[in-house]
Amino acid sequence: MSEGEVRVTRNALIIGAGVAGMQAAMDLADMGFYVYLVEKEPSIGGRLARFEKLFPTNECAISLLEPKLEEVESSGKIEILSYAEVEEVKGSAGNFEATIAHKPRYIDADRCTGCAQCMDVCPVEVPYDFNEGFGTRGAVYVPFPHPLLAVIDLENCLRTEGAECNACIDACDQDAIDFSQQKRYSKVKAGVIILASGSATYDPEPRNDYGYGIFDNVITTMEFERLLNADGPTGGKVIRPSDCKEPLRVGFINCVGSRDIKTNVYCSAGVCCMVNIKNAILLKEKMPEVACYIFYIDIRTPFRGYEEFFNHAREQGVRFIRGRPSEVLETEEGNLEIRVEDTLKGVVRTIEVDLAVLGTGIVPQQDMAKLSEMLKIPIAEDGMIRESHQKLGPVDTEREGVFIAGGVSGPKDIALAVTQGSAAAARAARLLFTKN
Ligand SMILES: Cc1cc2nc3c(=O)[nH]c(=O)nc-3n(C[C@H](O)[C@H](O)[C@H](O)COP(=O)(O)OP(=O)(O)OC[C@H]3O[C@@H](n4cnc5c(N)ncnc54)[C@H](O)[C@@H]3O)c2cc1C
Ligand code: SF4
Ligand code: SF4
Repeated sequence: MSEGEVRVTRNALIIGAGVAGMQAAMDLADMGFYVYLVEKEPSIGGRLARFEKLFPTNECAISLLEPKLEEVESSGKIEILSYAEVEEVKGSAGNFEATIAHKPRYIDADRCTGCAQCMDVCPVEVPYDFNEGFGTRGAVYVPFPHPLLAVIDLENCLRTEGAECNACIDACDQDAIDFSQQKRYSKVKAGVIILASGSATYDPEPRNDYGYGIFDNVITTMEFERLLNADGPTGGKVIRPSDCKEPLRVGFINCVGSRDIKTNVYCSAGVCCMVNIKNAILLKEKMPEVACYIFYIDIRTPFRGYEEFFNHAREQGVRFIRGRPSEVLETEEGNLEIRVEDTLKGVVRTIEVDLAVLGTGIVPQQDMAKLSEMLKIPIAEDGMIRESHQKLGPVDTEREGVFIAGGVSGPKDIALAVTQGSAAAARAARLLFTKN
């Protein structure tokens, strides 16, 4: 090495611990590299942790996720930095330095056993974000147990309003509650960075699409996923929010906030079609007598097993109606009327249901612009991170040493997100192996 040259740091920094980020981390660790895996939420696992079953095989989401979580947690070469965010990146390929902000959990991680005794006594009740607002949690709670640690949401803690609540402190026999914790910063060095921060789903609330936010019985697919989930707020019992009764007729509306010039012109690459098909099948399996309708513009089932899954839904009795509903109205009994032009039959129909599920489109995360600016990688027309070349560099970016994987560059199913995680790890390793 000549004078003035700096040696490459043979570490990797991965932002986002969903399936794509975890796959990249495991592959790089297997190749011998040390990995910092930064996750902004208190738990790792990403979106999959919230699902009951997965298309197109109907396999259990947690059975698929758990072994990956255990592998990441026990690797010895992956340092998980959960409840943390990268705030600044300096340097260049081979020698990046990142500043990481660690949010305070107000819990001593070395003492907490995740027993949840604190959670049982906390008098606060706020809508549970992990359950998409269904059910409640306290200000102190044990989230998805990877890692198995409580966290205090100080914004909702009674102490923030000046009350002298000590309930969690008194309940914790490990002395793990620590209100003295502050936000702290650390710096890590890495030769490569992989951005795997996923995507968001379209929020129908601001426009009250199809009465969402006005009619209780209009919900989104993410909300429906939680209702179906055995570990969800209802223990897997599907009910309608207005009266907690089991619905007898359910309408699933595709392409809400996708393929629409008023909201988002892009297609969610078949993900939302498949999600509504999956959930209709799961509902039919649980409650065969339920009438299920899927309202669609086109059904997009591009990969192996997808078309068969669609056909299986029809065999199960799910009814497909081709047409984008014009509106959803509430009846006096609290039911819903879905108005649609059935473009195959050429008639306008009104279909009454008890529950309507909006298949919301895949859109960019809120902090996409911040991440793009921090990493100096451009955003494409669809608001997602742009790859260096759509065909020849799908996990590369325009900045040397910065790679992307999974939903951050556009809608993906799990298979593609995992493939991209491995691809980004291979591209990153190539740089780490070859650069001096
Ligand atoms: C309702 C619904 C149902 C679905 N069902 C299926 C299915 O059955 N089968 C299937 O194949 N696909 C399904 N998908 C698609 C599947 O969710 C995605 O393919 C998968 O989650 C993509 O993985 P990812 O790692 O890219 O993103 P994610 O799973 O979203 O993970 C990204 C992670 O990054 C974290 N993060 C975000 N921003 C930051 C930041 N600034 N700093 C640090 N961390 C950050 C997030 O908190 C998250 O943990 C479904 C999608 C939806 C919306
Ligand atoms: S903080 Fe204490 S009571 Fe709460 S989960 Fe941890 S060990 Fe249990
Ligand atoms: S101090 Fe805060 S977190 Fe602890 S029990 Fe009281 S309200 Fe809940």
